[in-house]
Amino acid sequence: MLYNTLSRRKELFVPINAPLVGMYVCGPTVYGDPHLGHARPAITFDLLFRYLKWLGYKVRYVRNITDVGHLEHDADEGEDKIAKKARLEKLEPMEVAHYYTERYHDAMRALGVLSPSIEPLASGHIMEQIAFVQRILDKGYAYVSNGSVYFDVEKYNRDYNYGVLSGRRLEDMLGGTRELDGQDDKHSPVDFALWKKASPEHIMRWPSPWSDGFPGWHMECSAMSTKYLGEQFDIHGGGMDLMFPHHECELAQNTAADGHGSAKYWVHNNMMTINGQKMGKSLGNFITLEQMFTGNHPLLAQAYSPMTIRFFVLQAHYRSTLDFSNEALQAAEKGLDRLMKAVETLGKIKPAATSTVSVDDLQDRFVEAMNDDLNSPLVIAALFDWVRIINQLHDGQQTIAADDLDRLRKLVGTIVFDVLGLRDEKGEEANDLVTPLVEMLLEMRTTAKANKDWTTADRIRDRLAEIGIRVKDRKDGYDWEIE
Ligand code: ZN
Repeated sequence: MLYNTLSRRKELFVPINAPLVGMYVCGPTVYGDPHLGHARPAITFDLLFRYLKWLGYKVRYVRNITDVGHLEHDADEGEDKIAKKARLEKLEPMEVAHYYTERYHDAMRALGVLSPSIEPLASGHIMEQIAFVQRILDKGYAYVSNGSVYFDVEKYNRDYNYGVLSGRRLEDMLGGTRELDGQDDKHSPVDFALWKKASPEHIMRWPSPWSDGFPGWHMECSAMSTKYLGEQFDIHGGGMDLMFPHHECELAQNTAADGHGSAKYWVHNNMMTINGQKMGKSLGNFITLEQMFTGNHPLLAQAYSPMTIRFFVLQAHYRSTLDFSNEALQAAEKGLDRLMKAVETLGKIKPAATSTVSVDDLQDRFVEAMNDDLNSPLVIAALFDWVRIINQLHDGQQTIAADDLDRLRKLVGTIVFDVLGLRDEKGEEANDLVTPLVEMLLEMRTTAKANKDWTTADRIRDRLAEIGIRVKDRKDGYDWEIE
């Protein structure tokens, strides 16, 4: 227990001259409760954020909040998602955005997702977005039409390559899109909005050189990543569903304005399914994170703790699909419990004169797996091999010298708590008061046993069992755990 607390480092500041890594990840559109679909990208990029920090980098991690400009259809058609929710609930759009931003933060904190370095709001960066649109207009890759500004995809594609990120070809896209109905302000169906003129009933609007209106959805990420990370930065992340059109358009915007794209590496996490089906409101399998944590959904056999969900997500490689089912989550719950018990056991191992185990094995496997495209399932497999070894060390089948034991404790703490970002939820229940009280009672029980006062010894054990604390006698003392 003590060991967990000691190993949980929370270092914000690294040496001032550490190399800087810039990372931009597309955050949520805040118009509804955070759901399972939010958990995977957040945990994936949290793992990357934590690992880069552990490697000694200074990481500037920017994750935005979309509170304006994300429209219902194809991202730039229809009603604004937040404005619609505000209209239905008779609230101000910013009340909706603030409320769901806080809900998102609460859920992320529960999942052990660290707060990014900067969390900019789209609505707080309208000026930067207007300036960015103007730069694209100045370079000739956009046009003004009836107060809106559109990106000229065909012109851009003559000079650069539209579709390079998602592997699409413009000719195919042009063949597959609907005909313009003549009412449309766009010159071509593949063009997308950089700025939209607001209709009279549209509440969220700002003045611009072209009209009172609002920015297109893709514009915020180009403008805010450039503002905080510069014209070029290291990593741009998001879910695979954002690759097209969102990231493709973002890449085109940056390239049109600056002559090159922004990110050196694009990292996309794969999607998740529920019982083999895509999650969707119409399919009746839309599960919010609160429903997961409470078990309050017809598809859930039980509640799943935030750490069970985190562990479950980490058990799959971020580029594979991940299917949420009760069976799979229950297996993750058991696995996590076994891992946390081993961490606790590690704190009880007594050192020997020599080691029959090599701590380098775990260290090497951890670093190798993480360097291999963030292969968290391999890290977890290595940990489970060490769960077995830790139990053997505890039972005396293997031995470990004091300096190796010290290294092993630090290393397991680093991997489990600092990099995988797990928490010992059961251990947390045993707060600072419970642990010394249980230890005191068990010392009294040891004395009672030494005095052959079996009645008192059994009574202490049984009363502890009644409140959910299980005592297991061992040759050299006892173990206890909260059930
Ligand atoms: Zn984005």
